[in-house]
Amino acid sequence: MSRRKVIAGNWKMNNNPEQTKTLINEIAPLVSGSKSDVIVCVPYVDLAAALETVKDTNIKVGAQNCSWAVSGAFTGEVSAPMLKSIGVEYVITGHSERRTYFGDTDVTVRDRTRAALDAGLKVILCVGEYLEQREQGVTAEVCAMQTKIALQGVAAEELKNIIIAYEPVWAIGTGKTATAEQADEVCAIIRATVCGLYGEAAADDMIIQYGGSMNAGNAAELLSKPNVDGGLIGGASLKANDFAQIVKAADESL
Ligand code: PEP
Repeated sequence: MSRRKVIAGNWKMNNNPEQTKTLINEIAPLVSGSKSDVIVCVPYVDLAAALETVKDTNIKVGAQNCSWAVSGAFTGEVSAPMLKSIGVEYVITGHSERRTYFGDTDVTVRDRTRAALDAGLKVILCVGEYLEQREQGVTAEVCAMQTKIALQGVAAEELKNIIIAYEPVWAIGTGKTATAEQADEVCAIIRATVCGLYGEAAADDMIIQYGGSMNAGNAAELLSKPNVDGGLIGGASLKANDFAQIVKAADESL
């Protein structure tokens, strides 16, 4: 079964609107002929600039989080319908930095995912184990559990709007990449989890990315693995040439 590849940049808390325009204008010509899907997930204040700048390009725009609520007394939050109303297409849920620093739990990740789908957004749902959990031998259980909880209440026909990103926490922003074999193994476990919940066809169709210090040098090997359908890229997505190299590696793996 051949799946498309999806390369998404997670800019984290970097770049103001001017810098956003500049970076997207640098990336756009480098990825214009890509066969892979290309997404940039930018800070909230940069969304409008990003949406304006990607017009007439093949780049899609995502946010990095959304509330589980539609509106109300949730100071500092931004709702999924608000994102949708300005033309945002994607949103990341469950990034480990949200789980670690901002108290997101498996249940709030589930609820944010539900809210995003209800608003008509596409979701990049992040799961992954801490180093301690890998060392304890529970990577498979942790990733399966996070996947199962996040997908509670998601109907089979909604899965086309979900991408799962396997992001081992120990590899994010650390320069330590999972080996291609480790990435493939856990992406396969997540796929088997989806199979258990929704059946083989759904599992075969599911796009599962790897994220964690993916860069221009290691992308080709990671993306060559049968269960790795793309990448969620942090640091390297802030450099146009590096990000474009990763997109090229994705194209060449097809
Ligand atoms: C991320 O933020 O999702 C990520 C994978 O970061 P980095 O590529 O910098 O490890």
